[in-house]
Amino acid sequence: MKFNSLDQNHLKNLQAMVARDRFSTGDSVLDLHAKDQSQHPARRPEAVAWPVDRSEVAAILRYANAHRIPITGWGSGSSLEGNPIPVQKGIVLDFSQMNRILNIRAEDFQADVEPGVIYQDLNEKLRHTGLFFPPDPGARATVGGMIANNASGTRTVYYGSTKDYVLRLEVVLANGEIIELGTRAAKTSSGYDLIHLMVGSEGTLGVVVGATLRLVGFPVEYSAAIATFPSVAAASKAVFEIIRSGLNPAALELLGPECIELMNREEQLGLNVSPTLFVEFHSSTAGHLVEILDMGREICNEQGCTEFRSGLGKAERDHIFKARHALGEMIIRTHPDCGTLVVDVAVPNTAYPEMIALIGEEMNATGIMGYTFGHAGDGNVHFNIPGKKGDEKQWAQIDKLVQRLVSKALDLGGTATGEHGVGLGKKKYMTAEHGKSLDWMKQIKALFDPNGILNPGKIFP
Ligand SMILES: Cc1cc2nc3c(=O)[nH]c(=O)nc-3n(C[C@H](O)[C@H](O)[C@H](O)COP(=O)(O)OP(=O)(O)OC[C@H]3O[C@@H](n4cnc5c(N)ncnc54)[C@H](O)[C@@H]3O)c2cc1C
Repeated sequence: MKFNSLDQNHLKNLQAMVARDRFSTGDSVLDLHAKDQSQHPARRPEAVAWPVDRSEVAAILRYANAHRIPITGWGSGSSLEGNPIPVQKGIVLDFSQMNRILNIRAEDFQADVEPGVIYQDLNEKLRHTGLFFPPDPGARATVGGMIANNASGTRTVYYGSTKDYVLRLEVVLANGEIIELGTRAAKTSSGYDLIHLMVGSEGTLGVVVGATLRLVGFPVEYSAAIATFPSVAAASKAVFEIIRSGLNPAALELLGPECIELMNREEQLGLNVSPTLFVEFHSSTAGHLVEILDMGREICNEQGCTEFRSGLGKAERDHIFKARHALGEMIIRTHPDCGTLVVDVAVPNTAYPEMIALIGEEMNATGIMGYTFGHAGDGNVHFNIPGKKGDEKQWAQIDKLVQRLVSKALDLGGTATGEHGVGLGKKKYMTAEHGKSLDWMKQIKALFDPNGILNPGKIFP
């Protein structure tokens, strides 16, 4: 695709579509919208606009489509695969001023929101209703960015990912047409499921300008446990048994020994340095949670668990998970001269030990060290690799290592990305993962966006 640059005439016309102070070509603004949280190089857009309603978005898209100008949506820029980097320049639409919670219909378990709402702010606003929106990527992400990436988090094993919470969408198509998808009914089997085509499409098929989200009741009682194991295989077997036994964990995280060593050092946890599960349970009564914890302990013991610590109540749960949630920050603090790359793949549960074993072998063979952790309950493996800033040789080695890990995940019947999306980083695996169906994806893209202006350079190799 060939795109046009923004000349003075385009800039004048585009600026007139939004208020003067909501359109910028200033250096610092362009720099701020040139890079997400990944290690992909920055690429500045030519202009940034902050729309405040869907008609402004529609006008900009109509114009951009007619003049072949790239448009990239921007939530918080917290992506980890280069998803919002405007690699073909053009205009970034920053949704931070479309951040209203329009309507909370607690008795329908629904909220209507604009795309720039930060999910933690939504949950804060929902607090008095006893309801919440469960997907929980660690960063301060927007609902629009979460929908575009189909984000998940530690509680996906129980609550599902963003796609499970989107009932209705308002989308502006590349040609500026506004369409409404879905229904406010809790279920539907009416027609093609365009909602789930949009969710996870990373802003390449349309721009989300509104959403009706499904909400669920807040857990009444919480508990959590930490269990250490002699091997990853034993820990993985415990993961399987915990799920199979119907204990319904709300989070089930597996951390490698190197993570535990770091957490012991930073948080004085005093845990055995070995593969460790962090588990969370929710229920409506504390009594039920006591039974669940007893069963959980029994299951872990059967798999040779070397230590089992548990706690009841929200404060105890928060105490147990505090170090888990702080892990990302600890890694950054420990390697101040490094950037970190987070590998994200997902495999079937039975393949989890093999995937983790390969990471161990790779660390031994290459001398590249990293931190293995993941949402084991849904087969999602993360490997956080610190690499020296500016050391191109080391980053080339890391890149090769990542390629071997992703290829292995695909060989094991898994996926190149469990939750971070394709963006720039995973494009090269799309043919291997999807084969002929990638051609159908390309045809869908051509149908929705014939001029290819929406987030160009992403998803397709
Ligand atoms: C410390 C840390 C921890 C993380 N942990 C997790 C995790 O556990 N699970 C997880 O899933 N992710 C995780 N992430 C990744 C990231 O937070 C998620 O992918 C999140 O959904 C991105 O949201 P955002 O608002 O920052 O979107 P951005 O990064 O700004 O954009 C994401 C994508 O959405 C598009 N977009 C933005 N707004 C719109 C819109 N209105 N319409 C159409 N397209 C749009 C962008 O063009 C881009 O392709 C983590 C990131 C960090 C930094």
